[in-house]
Amino acid sequence: MTTQTLHYIVEPHDLAGHRLKVTLKIARVAKSNQVVGLPAWIPGSYLIRDFSRHIESIRGRHGGRWHQPKKIDDHHWSFDGCAGSLTVEIVVYAWDFSVRGAHVDDSHAFFNGTSVFLMAKGLEDQPCKVEINRPAGKRSWRAYTSMPAVSTRTAADSLGQFVAPNYDALIDHPFELGTPAVIAFEACGAPHRMVFTGVIPNLDTKRIARDVKRICEAQIKLFDPHMARAAFLDSAPAYVFMTMVTGSGYGGLEHRASTALVCSRQDLPTLHQTQTPDGYVNFLGLVSHEYFHTWNVKRIKPAAFVPYDLTKPNHTRLLWLFEGFTSYYDDLMLLRSQVIDEQKYLQQLAKTITGVHAGPGRLKQSLASSSFDAWTKYYKQDENAPNAISSYYAKGSLVALALDLVIRQRSDQRFSLDDVMRALWDKFGVLFYQGQPTGLSETGFAKLVFECTGVDVRTELVKWVEGTSDIELKPLLAAQGIELNWVCKDTTPALGANLKPDGESLTVRQVIEGGPAHRSGLSAGDRLLACNGLRIGNTLKHLKDLLAAYQPGDEILLTTFRDDVLQERLVALAEAPASTAELKPNPAKAR
Ligand code: ZN
Repeated sequence: MTTQTLHYIVEPHDLAGHRLKVTLKIARVAKSNQVVGLPAWIPGSYLIRDFSRHIESIRGRHGGRWHQPKKIDDHHWSFDGCAGSLTVEIVVYAWDFSVRGAHVDDSHAFFNGTSVFLMAKGLEDQPCKVEINRPAGKRSWRAYTSMPAVSTRTAADSLGQFVAPNYDALIDHPFELGTPAVIAFEACGAPHRMVFTGVIPNLDTKRIARDVKRICEAQIKLFDPHMARAAFLDSAPAYVFMTMVTGSGYGGLEHRASTALVCSRQDLPTLHQTQTPDGYVNFLGLVSHEYFHTWNVKRIKPAAFVPYDLTKPNHTRLLWLFEGFTSYYDDLMLLRSQVIDEQKYLQQLAKTITGVHAGPGRLKQSLASSSFDAWTKYYKQDENAPNAISSYYAKGSLVALALDLVIRQRSDQRFSLDDVMRALWDKFGVLFYQGQPTGLSETGFAKLVFECTGVDVRTELVKWVEGTSDIELKPLLAAQGIELNWVCKDTTPALGANLKPDGESLTVRQVIEGGPAHRSGLSAGDRLLACNGLRIGNTLKHLKDLLAAYQPGDEILLTTFRDDVLQERLVALAEAPASTAELKPNPAKAR
């Protein structure tokens, strides 16, 4: 087959109605029919999302007139009798304010390729050109993306032209169009941009640039200590952090040379602040996490993702490695780049340990199962999640910690998890987008650890990843001079339920298995009205004040509404457990 360039034109033609018109021009259709469609999911977010459901209309032009295609399954259409050239036009509804979809209004447009770029079956390996048309009346708008631009000079009615070597790359460079705040810096000589969309008065851009630059440099040097070459340079001239700033939001999605982030306005530092916001470390942690994915999961991949099958779930039992290890390194990189100090790092780590131990689900679901079932469990969490699910993020990060400690200890501090990450990078990552891409097999990790460190961790990995018992961190941390203690932070007796304010009262969000709420039959959705005849109110503090009058073992009468039915139930209160992890350095005990 001869090469041809697929030509995509994106036109945000109805900002008020949140609609994009997207045209795909195929110069030569070799066969008598052409199938087109959108992915069922977006890599990095393991849930079937059916992006094609946002296509409002689709039509194709061939033989001099417009035709309607035949829908052949949930995600695909077929244009029959179209040998020759074919132009397909779709209108996409874009009102998903998340990092995974597309969002358009008169202030900006953000979209992932998975929401707008039709895949042309059989032509997935062909190069693509993207043209972005300027919306009417938006003279100040610019386009921001990591997708390489054909030319920086653009016509007045265009926001630019961009190129991708194939469909896989085409959908891995999201776009932000608008007038965002932009920060530019270099890390190890490689250009980076941060694009902030949303109103952020007096954003402290210098502070953010300084901190993020340090984090990026620490990561580049971790994977490439000799040359310090940024991984994304195989795919883009600059790395782009695209941040949507909201009232309260948190999350990110990784791409090969960019990331889409959502953060809360109050987490960002502004000029003239006397104190850095507490949430800033979480924002930097998110930045660090997504940037680490540039290596771990975007280039070092599980074999199950090489290549992605975008029509159905792609199962791997290794997300604890790709998400968990990335979660371990996100905060560790803040420490190593001196963006936070050791005390803050230990606080963050203790928070993770506390969180992992909070749910009985960790004792039921292994990390391998949690990874495999991400599509139906982790991404479809309900009120029973803490009792049923183990997080391949949080517990996966503790596997990374334990592995790091074991390798350091057994190799007399000669090796660490860093050597394992570099070995993964050398074996699977370096040539990913240039050479023959391969991925880590489902069972190949322990062997790789042994090859690069001489430490045999097969037994531990089976226990930590396939098993469901807690990882014994205390002795491992103690050997490195860190003391782990469990403390009780609550002086009032416990109910064993997570609650949320709901109008005038508190509503049960989750009931923890085995606790007083569970034993009494209290359920998610129940509204708490009164405790022994006294109104509970709608704050946790109010409830705590009421419970402070009782001892563990006391019974209280809770009056609740389940749906519209008034109920009363006796709850035997329990002692608040010592469930908060605390970490502190104890150099005297280091061996
Ligand atoms: Zn991640």
